[in-house]
Amino acid sequence: MIYQRSSTLFKEAQKVIPGGVNSPVRAFKAVGGTPIFVKSAKGPYLQDVDGNRFIDYINSWGPMILGHAHPKVVEAIIEKTKLGTSFGMPTEIETEIAELAVKMIPNMDKIRFVNSGTEACMSAVRLARGYTGRDKIIKFSGCYHGHSDAFLIQAGSGAVTFGTPNSPGVTQGTAKDTLLAHFNDLEDVREIVANHPDEIAAIILEPVAGNMGCIPPKAGFLQGLRELCDACGMLLIFDEVMTGFRLAAGGAQERYHVAADIVAFGKVIGGGLPVGAFASSDAIMGHLAPDGPIYQAGTLSGNPLAMAAGLAMLSELHQNSGIYDSLEQKTAYLEKGLIEGFINAGVIHTINRVGSMISVHFSETPVTNFETASKAAHGGKFRTYFHGMLNEGIYLAPSAFETWFLCDALTYHDLDQTLEASKRVALSL
Ligand SMILES: *Cc1c(COP(=O)(O)O)cnc(C)c1O
Repeated sequence: MIYQRSSTLFKEAQKVIPGGVNSPVRAFKAVGGTPIFVKSAKGPYLQDVDGNRFIDYINSWGPMILGHAHPKVVEAIIEKTKLGTSFGMPTEIETEIAELAVKMIPNMDKIRFVNSGTEACMSAVRLARGYTGRDKIIKFSGCYHGHSDAFLIQAGSGAVTFGTPNSPGVTQGTAKDTLLAHFNDLEDVREIVANHPDEIAAIILEPVAGNMGCIPPKAGFLQGLRELCDACGMLLIFDEVMTGFRLAAGGAQERYHVAADIVAFGKVIGGGLPVGAFASSDAIMGHLAPDGPIYQAGTLSGNPLAMAAGLAMLSELHQNSGIYDSLEQKTAYLEKGLIEGFINAGVIHTINRVGSMISVHFSETPVTNFETASKAAHGGKFRTYFHGMLNEGIYLAPSAFETWFLCDALTYHDLDQTLEASKRVALSL
């Protein structure tokens, strides 16, 4: 494939945008080569500026669960635009989407909308700290909760890809309040909690990790954290920015039958527009401004276009709950075919999958946490696989630490094409 126009645009972009991109992992540093500039997308297909077409497995890193430019979402945005794009005053649609969201999300009474997943996680932690009167949080190495300071401590994908697990600019003062634990290791968490009695406000995690590849929680892990939080007066924060409205209408809480105290959202909830949100109980949300003293705000929060896109997306998922079964089946089909292709080519592999999140690791040993994910990413096989697939017209996330996301617009024909491509590429690994 030829990427001439992308190359030119990338050179231009680098003159005025740091690294030529507005979010680091887009730059292809981990896999090498020129990032592809998109012209348009429809359903499961991307069209680039050179006229190449790709089957898309990142789907804007998760939001486009129905595929690109879904007619209902597009229509909702267009209609809303005609009425004015921002007011900084309440609008009816904010209540409509909030009502639908709390109906779909288990255990939550209220939801506050923000503009990104980063903001949602940052606000969730402030709420937990303000509510408990404690400063420290526990996060897991390899989990990503956006780029706010407290979270840039072994933060998975983007940060890991760039070798800066602890970013310069994050102060020691901030870092000391973030306690790091190993994902899927309940004993480790128990020990940390025992060493910091009455100091820890919350445990925050991706209930299914998606920023070190896809890593499911081991049986009993989430439940164990729930019990530990209850026993020690800590709040359990699920960062469902990736898993929310993707693994089930009610996200990981529904899928694993574990209740969180605060849940952060992003990605799918915005239908492709910049939206995040955090939800909690009446009791906890009562402490948030303007009802309580914990401050949180946003000029464009609840923006009507963003709410229209989000509402159209959530309505579609709510009305058509068969989507989750269909996604599950499609992703299981892909998983099975990928495994066959790798076995056929004698390629060592581990595939992790939960629902429509799936990741391929070129390692024999189970990938259960950040350490095993990093080991599996060694050796550069992913780079070869990524470019091989790209050349076949299959767009994967440009890092071994990313999860692939399937969208419901993918047909079995698309999946077969992907599997044929993978089979060929596997032979070159
Ligand atoms: C993407 C992501 C975030 C950050 O969301 P942004 O909208 O990029 O700020 C936070 N947590 C998880 C789990 C994510 O996948």
